[in-house]
Amino acid sequence: MANITLKDIAHSYTGASDNPDDYALKKLNLTWRDGGAYALLGPSGCGKTTLLNIISGLLVPTKGDVRFNDENVTKLPTEQRNIAQIFQFPVIYDTMTVFENLAFPLKNRGRTKEEIEPRVIELAKMLDLDKNLHTKAQHLTADAKQKISLGRGLIRQSVNAILFDEPLTVIDPQLKWELRSQLKYLHKQFGFTMIYVTHDQTEALTFADEVIVMYEGAIVQVGTPEDLFERPEHTFVGYFIGSPGMNIASCALKGDRIVVEGAEIELDYTYPDQKSTDKVKVGIRPEHLNLTGPDTPGGFPVTITKIDDIGRYKIVRVTLNNKDFNVVMHELSANAGDKASLHFDTSHTHIYVNDHLISGAAK
Ligand code: ADP
Ligand code: MG
Repeated sequence: MANITLKDIAHSYTGASDNPDDYALKKLNLTWRDGGAYALLGPSGCGKTTLLNIISGLLVPTKGDVRFNDENVTKLPTEQRNIAQIFQFPVIYDTMTVFENLAFPLKNRGRTKEEIEPRVIELAKMLDLDKNLHTKAQHLTADAKQKISLGRGLIRQSVNAILFDEPLTVIDPQLKWELRSQLKYLHKQFGFTMIYVTHDQTEALTFADEVIVMYEGAIVQVGTPEDLFERPEHTFVGYFIGSPGMNIASCALKGDRIVVEGAEIELDYTYPDQKSTDKVKVGIRPEHLNLTGPDTPGGFPVTITKIDDIGRYKIVRVTLNNKDFNVVMHELSANAGDKASLHFDTSHTHIYVNDHLISGAAK
């Protein structure tokens, strides 16, 4: 097992180029600690699979090095990296039985029958495949086939890392939850480094101790689920994480004050002046806005346009001047069409310049 380091990695599918737009993966540096449970989260096309394939050796990066501990493995083929990779769709042998499929990675490495059998049975039980051990894979459902793929990835106990590339895409929603908890359990039990790629925030946040958020070929934040929620370092993270995501609005910034849609807010921190060409935005999560009755001092006048009651709380859509904001309310007596006052919790109000979070100075 090893720490995996990506040093100045970048990848362009059209070969080396000076134009950053040619790069599916922009320059990045990252270390995956041995034994960590990571999620790689981002929308389709942001470069997740490209990054995973560079780690496993299916792809040689245009620039930079991949290191396992101190060894440079950038040009080493997949077989020599001791990495297990599980893909979006099942990769199995249809004409082999479940048992033979699971046993294959071990048999291939010359393990004895005595070593293989108990391991296959143990894993088949965990994945609920034990009733079908001697059925040919071709007779099974897509769910079961993908479980075999997962099993094949998990069967070896001495791998440098296990990479999962959106492995639950074809799995029935009910089973998804179950398999995700199984993976988490397996991580705790065996301590493999696991990198789990997904575009689903719930999957990422429930699986990982640390989440890497990617956007347009770049890493925009690395943090715990709490970091991503409390202090999104990029507007994309604010918008992508949370349900609904963070409210983001253009604003004018002057020292410790912003003006957003005509509303002037005094902030907890003071910020340096920005260039006139910079785009300044304020970000605040729906959980950190509050509504009171119309004309409350300290609040800004808004109109309620929509209320979604989702059980434990309501998501209230309000319009401040011309801009919509979502507000999470646990109690609300107003109706759509009513006037209200909007309050910002300034301890959770973030300022972004060109979409990147900036820090203010204490006043
Ligand atoms: P993700 O896994 O996050 O959906 P990918 O890593 O598959 O993203 O793709 C990142 C970008 O690289 C996309 O714009 C995609 O079209 C492009 N891309 C992926 N694979 C290839 C390829 N083999 N050849 C050319 N472009 C590719
Ligand atoms: Mg992908």
